[in-house]
Amino acid sequence: MQTISNYDFAGKKAIVRVDFNVPLDENGNITDDTRIRGALPTLRYILDKGGALIIMSHMGKPKGKVNAKMSLGQIREAVGKALGVEVKFAPDCAKAKEAADALKAGEVLLLENLRFYPEEEGKPVGIDKEDPAYDEAKKAMKASQKEFAKTLASYADCYVNDAFGTAHRKHASTAVIADYFDTDNKMLGFLMEKEVQAVDNILSNIKRPFTAIMGGSKVSTKIGIIENLMDKVDNLILCGGMTYTFAKAQGGKIGNSICEDDKLQLALDIIAQAKAKGVNLVLGTDCIAADAFSNDANTQVVAANAIPDGWEGLDAGPETRKLFAEAIEGAKTILWNGPAGVFEFDNFTGGSRAIAEAIAKATANGAYSLIGGGDSVACINKFGMADKVSYISTGGGALLEAIEGKVLPGVAAIKGE
Ligand code: AMP
Repeated sequence: MQTISNYDFAGKKAIVRVDFNVPLDENGNITDDTRIRGALPTLRYILDKGGALIIMSHMGKPKGKVNAKMSLGQIREAVGKALGVEVKFAPDCAKAKEAADALKAGEVLLLENLRFYPEEEGKPVGIDKEDPAYDEAKKAMKASQKEFAKTLASYADCYVNDAFGTAHRKHASTAVIADYFDTDNKMLGFLMEKEVQAVDNILSNIKRPFTAIMGGSKVSTKIGIIENLMDKVDNLILCGGMTYTFAKAQGGKIGNSICEDDKLQLALDIIAQAKAKGVNLVLGTDCIAADAFSNDANTQVVAANAIPDGWEGLDAGPETRKLFAEAIEGAKTILWNGPAGVFEFDNFTGGSRAIAEAIAKATANGAYSLIGGGDSVACINKFGMADKVSYISTGGGALLEAIEGKVLPGVAAIKGE
């Protein structure tokens, strides 16, 4: 497979798919530039090696229509500042051939939001899935998606994909475009290489014990990854809102706590599976219960299976935090996705903080720790502990799908799988 490090960019034009889907305030100012910084090593490297850059990305969900609020023109200056080069702008990503042709070595062209064209995502617009004409419309859209990808490809000599956040999508710019470059002229960017390596560390190079911590609100959205991890981990901590579905399934009283009543059997199945596979399943035994879903609610520590009526579990209790810490501190491989409580409320961050601290301790003792998914990353940043873990993934859905063992279309398109 071609790699970015051994490609000769001198005199070449590289079209690079990045994830510049950065959050903006109401005035169009960037509120968090993590994603821009994440792409810099790749972009700088190509310029330093004598290449010219055509940068493409999506922003937000404009659903195939031009929307000034999601224009990448808003971040052109910030990208230029970060790169230390003036950035040219192509206001129509599908009509940028002339601008691309005129680019010289060291120059940069930023294309307008790819998702202003429905062809980027390749989904037919304005037609319901139930409509008998849907299949035809989908076929037609797939054909125009190819044309769109071919147009983008025509701007450059080589293609680099550095957008891990969208690697689980088979979009024009993340996968289809790769068909228009031969194997020697398409490659992953540095960020993608690091992400793929991080997943590999968790899936292939497992040092034991391996502890996975899955949190968040629901079992249903995490079931794929929980089942996949069951074959790999030594300790599996399930926390956050999921705690109460498990507690109720086992006959507990959970008051007003969040619960998926249609997943009670699934919870029992997970407990049985863990037992059969010799996985140490760690569930919360106590919790911080609140009398309202609010940061200022009254609280009390109660057993997770004996929550009084009118109260709801919003965070892991002190005994639970100790159990979590024990399963984490002795681990040599750690994966964390999803908070242990309603971390958005400052008074309910304790459980997530205990997890973060235990991960930091284990990492200092030589463990490999991977944190992924927006909320756990937000936790780590909120606690100022980002430099105390091995790797923080930029991918939410992409990371989970990769860890579930699914092949990511964005990676497969380059590897030729
Ligand atoms: P998810 O999107 O499934 O990863 O869940 C993340 C969300 O779960 C966060 O917004 C948390 O506030 C929420 N969460 C975590 N613990 C609880 C809980 N005990 N009750 C309600 N929501 C929770």
